[in-house]
Amino acid sequence: MFIFIATAVFIFGLLFGSFSNVLIYRIPRGESIVFPPSHCPKCGARIKPYDNIPIISYIMLGGRCRSCHQPISIRYPLVELSVGLIFLLNFLLFGFSVNFARFLLFMYSLFLLSATDILYMVIPDKISIPALILGLIINLFHHMPIKLYIINFIIGAASGMIVVWLIMVIGKIIWKKEVMGSGDIFVMGIIGAYLGIYYILPTLFWGALFGAVYGIVLILRKKASRDSMIPFGPFLAAGAITSLLTLPFIFKLLGL
Ligand SMILES: [Zn+2]
Repeated sequence: MFIFIATAVFIFGLLFGSFSNVLIYRIPRGESIVFPPSHCPKCGARIKPYDNIPIISYIMLGGRCRSCHQPISIRYPLVELSVGLIFLLNFLLFGFSVNFARFLLFMYSLFLLSATDILYMVIPDKISIPALILGLIINLFHHMPIKLYIINFIIGAASGMIVVWLIMVIGKIIWKKEVMGSGDIFVMGIIGAYLGIYYILPTLFWGALFGAVYGIVLILRKKASRDSMIPFGPFLAAGAITSLLTLPFIFKLLGL
């Protein structure tokens, strides 16, 4: 029975991934997510339902559009698979519980925002603000004392946003350039809203470390200079996930 439910969750995730492709492509362009129906970005031909089956259609079509035979970006099946795996992973870890909803929404929001940041260098408010508010709502279901909730999640989200804003202001004074985008303020707000205040500094630490390593590699390979902009959202997302995996052990080591 468990295996059937897990498979159903995975398939639902794949379908949701297919819809996520629409979100990732259209929201940064300011387009409606409902109209017009899915079409090939190269020839405009409408995509038939049987050509819109996650992953399977891509393989059946040999990665090409049925009408214009132009290649379809590998990004589409990759997004579908990633979202499917995010659904499956959270189901395997938490079953159907508050933590399932919490970590699923958290990872999914970070995934969407990282995708738009990598592809278009934007972190759309239309995704980040609802994601942040949903995080604060979901954590209400933890039945913790209201004072603890406010300190952990409300002040957590606010302090995450303030810290990034301060880094932007100070960075602008010292280096006379944008070190982070304003969208990163919301990414850090989301991390505070879902994970709580203790995750802000570890996330910034790992995010800055990953971003710096990536920047140095790009500079050494002469793909970037010191003045190049790199999308920072994905590094914050990776920093948050790394903190999630490591912080419980660090707390244990410190005897907390
Ligand atoms: Zn086409």
